Amino acid sequence: MTFPARSLNLCLGTHVSIRGGLPVALDRGESLGCGAIQIFSHSSRTWTAPVVAPEDIGHFLDRHRHSSVGPVLVHASYLINTATADPEKRVKSAESLRNDWILANRLGVYGLVLHPGSSAGQSEEAALERSAEMIREVISAPVEGETLLLLENTAGGGKTMGRNPREMERLLDCLDRSAKVAVCLDSCHLLASGAEIRTPKGYEEVVSAWQSASGSGGVRAWHLNDALFEKGSGRDRHAHIGTGTVGLWFFWNLLHDPRFAGLPMVLETPKGEETDKEDRANLSLLGRLAALDDFRPDDPDVLSLLEELEAMA
Ligand SMILES: [Zn+2]
Ligand SMILES: [Zn+2]
Repeated sequence: MTFPARSLNLCLGTHVSIRGGLPVALDRGESLGCGAIQIFSHSSRTWTAPVVAPEDIGHFLDRHRHSSVGPVLVHASYLINTATADPEKRVKSAESLRNDWILANRLGVYGLVLHPGSSAGQSEEAALERSAEMIREVISAPVEGETLLLLENTAGGGKTMGRNPREMERLLDCLDRSAKVAVCLDSCHLLASGAEIRTPKGYEEVVSAWQSASGSGGVRAWHLNDALFEKGSGRDRHAHIGTGTVGLWFFWNLLHDPRFAGLPMVLETPKGEETDKEDRANLSLLGRLAALDDFRPDDPDVLSLLEELEAMA
């Protein structure tokens, strides 16, 4: 079962593996009917990145030009902490981020997604300054391209930065509101950090606060994930769409929010042994919700897809 999400001016997609090379990720996205994809440039939990040869970049650009996949997001390594005060970690973080930034621009992709990091062990002020210093240095690297650095909201655990609009606004201010920097919102992280996004009133308050904190750049991409734990848990654990604590209404509403029409919206839902099947079911459910003018959780297609996803949870 597939639904034509693209005709609704939606850019729905999912995170895909780069196994076999960067261009192969586009093949995977196409076979799933994605309008957008997200990739890691290398293993997200290691520092060392293999060097990407110029011909591989050329191959990717050529493949992307003829692809039905639109915007591509590259997700930076989870190890990066732009706010760290530890000298060795600062060098490694800056190098990893700079490499990804240069690569993302050369690949001509829409955005590089970054979790800003953690302010653990220092004042919020000092962490912001350190974070902004590293980001400024990286985005001023001499590379041509129009890639956006997309700062992602966090689930709010520990001392992670950017867990609410106020924190993100302060960081964006420290970056002098650079046109190269915008925000990517993750629905699981919103709920986990305590934002009530499941009611019309709550949704509107949360979304308006993020839009105004994000300035003229605004929110420029979404990660669509349901959440395993309760609102305010601070825990970053994703669930299949409709099977977690975020629930279907939020996704239906977001897909119909004209403020986000045409932006890349990418799944980062759990991937077990049947990755393709899981991705397809999540994408089909989003596509079906998008196709419904009214919120109808009792729609037969919605119900059967939900059942399929619950069985895979
Ligand atoms: Zn995310
Ligand atoms: Zn997450």
